[in-house]
Amino acid sequence: MSEYWNAELETMPWADVERWQAGQVTAVLPALRERSPLYARLHAGVRDDLVLRSAADLAALPFTLKDDLRIAQEAASEAAPLGDNQAVPRADLVQAISSSGTTGRPLYYGLSARDVEVFGDAVANVWFTAGIRKDDVVAHLVGLPMVAGGLPYADGFRRLGATLCWLGGFPTERILREMRHLRVTALLATTSFALHLADKWDAVGTETGIASCLRKVIGGGEPGLAQPELRRRIAGGLALTHLRETMGLGDVMPSMWGECEAEAGMHFNAQRYVLVELIDPASGATLPWREGGTGELVYTTFARDATPVVRYRSRDHAEVVALRCACGRTSPRIRCIGRTDDMLIYKGMNVFPTAVRDLLTGRFADRIEPLLRLWKESAGQVRFDDAIAIDVEASAPLGDAQRAALADEIEATVRTELQVRVAVTVLDRGGLPRGVYKNAIVAVREPAVAARKDSKP
Ligand SMILES: [Zn+2]
Repeated sequence: MSEYWNAELETMPWADVERWQAGQVTAVLPALRERSPLYARLHAGVRDDLVLRSAADLAALPFTLKDDLRIAQEAASEAAPLGDNQAVPRADLVQAISSSGTTGRPLYYGLSARDVEVFGDAVANVWFTAGIRKDDVVAHLVGLPMVAGGLPYADGFRRLGATLCWLGGFPTERILREMRHLRVTALLATTSFALHLADKWDAVGTETGIASCLRKVIGGGEPGLAQPELRRRIAGGLALTHLRETMGLGDVMPSMWGECEAEAGMHFNAQRYVLVELIDPASGATLPWREGGTGELVYTTFARDATPVVRYRSRDHAEVVALRCACGRTSPRIRCIGRTDDMLIYKGMNVFPTAVRDLLTGRFADRIEPLLRLWKESAGQVRFDDAIAIDVEASAPLGDAQRAALADEIEATVRTELQVRVAVTVLDRGGLPRGVYKNAIVAVREPAVAARKDSKP
């Protein structure tokens, strides 16, 4: 028998949830134009008496783009340190949150005291869906308090009633030892950091003589746990079976999606505070939730005081995995298939780097590590006409000839399966970064490095 954090909303028919949410959005819109200079501008043409009867009715409202938030932030002043989207007086702000800043200058968001409560409840809902309970002792391994995965994630664990052990920020060896001393039963980490821990699990910490109590892993802060090979490696290394992927967005809500015991796609868990839409990224048209459908996720907050967003284009692309679930939750289940920011165009064709990674980590599971780095020549590069440079890691030591043969084989596989030419460099194991937050799969060559490489015979 399943248990829920918010049984009423999590099990209500999805159409009813959306209808209730549309009413909530209707109720907050007029005041939003008063409170936020950004929305006074964006919603200047929106009727005062607009009534939204369903999620589809939101199509009457304009989108909010990341650039709108950037421009709004540039209007920051002493009275409004968060700029034109600051919708409460400075005295009512209790916290600022930073975006990760992996793409450009970081954006800042604010929280009022009520926003802190809302975040705590919504994040706790996701952790609960992901199987965390009051009696869990949780190692929170994101080391940056100011990002969405920092303090807000920690608040979610405390709200749920679990024992928060914020070990993020310590060296890996210390984390591994403290997890044994504190009898940690669950950990939250980025997928790549969880893999890093899995690789070291048997080497460090065992000297304490304390048996591992670890049973649950939550992957958050970066996508990747949907890859079966990565899942298998982390589960094997840490000797457990409970692995759940989660996803959120700092601009909206730090964690909104979480996997239930089916471990097959993430449920939407922020329905009490956020309305989510699926749209066609090219036309902007609203798409129905249907199994197998893909689109961009668009979010509207209707319980956010400090920095609200309406129809915010997340640039996250998702595939709808299922609309029903044995757990009884009624929200759609999705998996993230990539970000607009990462999308490349190879000879006129769209390619997500994650698609290359997922192909290779499945096909070459025994021979390379489930990680990938793709190189751009400049941060703004989207189009590629020549082979795209990618780095992979060999699982075992290889001689030069074996390395070259593996690279050839990988290049042929990508060409056949994705119609994309890549130039593969096979690195030794450990050659790619395993970060504690937002590990970018795409890297930009430093000009000096590129020049050095070019000068090689
Ligand atoms: Zn479920």
